[in-house]
Amino acid sequence: MWQNKMPDYVSKTKTIVDKKFDVLIVGGGVSGITIALQLQKSGLQCVVAEGHNLCFGTTGGTTAHLNNFFDTTYADIEKKFGEDSAQLIAKAANQALELYHSNIEQYNIDCDYQQKDGYLYSQNDKQTEELDSIFQASIKAGVDVGYTDRIPLPIEFQKAIVYHEQANIHPAKYVHALAKIFEEKGGVILQNCMVNDFEGDDELNVDTSLGKMTTKILIWATHIPPGINLLHFRCAPYRSYAMAVSLNDNAYPDGLAYDMYDPYHYYRTQDIDGKKYFIVGGYDHKTAHEENTEACFNKLEAHIRKYFNVKEVAFKWSSQYFEPADGLAYIGHLPGNPDNVFVATGYGGNGMTYSHIAAISLTDLITKGQSEYAKLFDPGRVKPVAGFSNFVKENADVVKEFFGKRFSQEKLNELSELAKGEAKLVKFEGKSLALYKDENGDIHAVSPVCPHAKCSVGWNSAEKSWDCPCHGSRFSVNGEVLTGPARIGLEVIEIENLVQEEKH
Ligand SMILES: Cc1cc2nc3c(=O)[nH]c(=O)nc-3n(C[C@H](O)[C@H](O)[C@H](O)COP(=O)(O)OP(=O)(O)OC[C@H]3O[C@@H](n4cnc5c(N)ncnc54)[C@H](O)[C@@H]3O)c2cc1C
Repeated sequence: MWQNKMPDYVSKTKTIVDKKFDVLIVGGGVSGITIALQLQKSGLQCVVAEGHNLCFGTTGGTTAHLNNFFDTTYADIEKKFGEDSAQLIAKAANQALELYHSNIEQYNIDCDYQQKDGYLYSQNDKQTEELDSIFQASIKAGVDVGYTDRIPLPIEFQKAIVYHEQANIHPAKYVHALAKIFEEKGGVILQNCMVNDFEGDDELNVDTSLGKMTTKILIWATHIPPGINLLHFRCAPYRSYAMAVSLNDNAYPDGLAYDMYDPYHYYRTQDIDGKKYFIVGGYDHKTAHEENTEACFNKLEAHIRKYFNVKEVAFKWSSQYFEPADGLAYIGHLPGNPDNVFVATGYGGNGMTYSHIAAISLTDLITKGQSEYAKLFDPGRVKPVAGFSNFVKENADVVKEFFGKRFSQEKLNELSELAKGEAKLVKFEGKSLALYKDENGDIHAVSPVCPHAKCSVGWNSAEKSWDCPCHGSRFSVNGEVLTGPARIGLEVIEIENLVQEEKH
């Protein structure tokens, strides 16, 4: 729902052969563009390469609450990382919110930015106990929070706390505005430019779909870095569902709100082009672990209708985020790579805030050689936490199944049982196929084996994509990569030829 038309200020193609840059930032989401502008402010010549178009990734599917508290609560952070770390992350989050504020003020950006209070409320005794400990830890961390006897929703609650001076924005308007400023100041943005690989050490020679370029520093702002890396075992892909509705009684809640279920619901109101929308999200699950993704929308809609007088469901969408193993993002040097390769990932559901923490921290790391947040978010940190070994095992759950490219009439008969718009994984003679029948009745057949780490993909009916449960790569029905870390698509099974052959 956030998609703007493709802005004409952003270079769609540019000859980059032999161009040398100080920093190549890969990814044109909120992270990539904010990091690029921040580095440019420090005098570096930067280029952003985006494989599709700006906001193609999760930034185009976010609900854009800007918070100084996280899904990993201050109580959890204090327990796992200590009181000092909780204070440091609160400081980082406050700086991130200030950076939004100062960018918007300095460049006079029209992105529907509004400061609002954020309410967290409990609905049973267990949640209330947890809420009290979150409140205490938030106070200790130095966050501006208080108890409140009201929440902005018509939902019963036991106890509530309010975090002051949170905010919401229109994410695409914000990112496009920053991109425009970045280009006007001499930055280069390349859309439809997939970064494939690089080689070298001091100077990195980068291979992209638009040609080769050279850079001193490379930053993967791709939500999850491509290829196989330690971080793929420390980040798990999840999907979350969101819906924007209009209300009959105009009773749009004024504020951001969150309940305490797992997964939790999140609520806010947004004005877009003079119309109000109430945006609610939730029903998160691990990617490809829910067979009927459409049912998640149904549950979300039923939840909204239970409490609100819904006039119309205007938009619904789902998108992906990456949950870090120990609860904190990974921002800094990418393990197993030269010193001049950096990453920002593992944001959980707080990437709008983390993207700006990444911009602040990476700029300091690159221009000053140090950042006060470097240790806290070090991607190479070893933080043994309960459940970590299961987390790794689950993510390394590799399918050892391979198959030939062709199959027989018997299989085709089975295919005909698919309804239009339906997809399924089928087994035939011990081999697996991922099949989808489109609205014209044509079958699209690909191998379900994700080329990244050989896990088996699952069908996402809401987005009509094949999603990998292990590391979150997503593929179109024809096997093309929609979202990394996979660099290449699913193997296509040539059934049309086969159908022709069988017919003769
Ligand atoms: C439903 C939902 C709601 C959310 N709500 C909130 C919220 O309210 N508040 C909050 O703080 N966070 C929220 N989040 C999380 C937040 O939206 C994300 O963490 C954030 O948008 C990530 O931004 P990003 O720029 O790092 O990644 P993305 O926006 O995913 O951008 C990465 C870009 O990299 C590009 N790319 C990938 N590989 C390559 C390559 N090899 N070459 C070139 N380009 C490449 C992709 O095309 C993509 O455009 C939400 C997440 C979901 C799923």
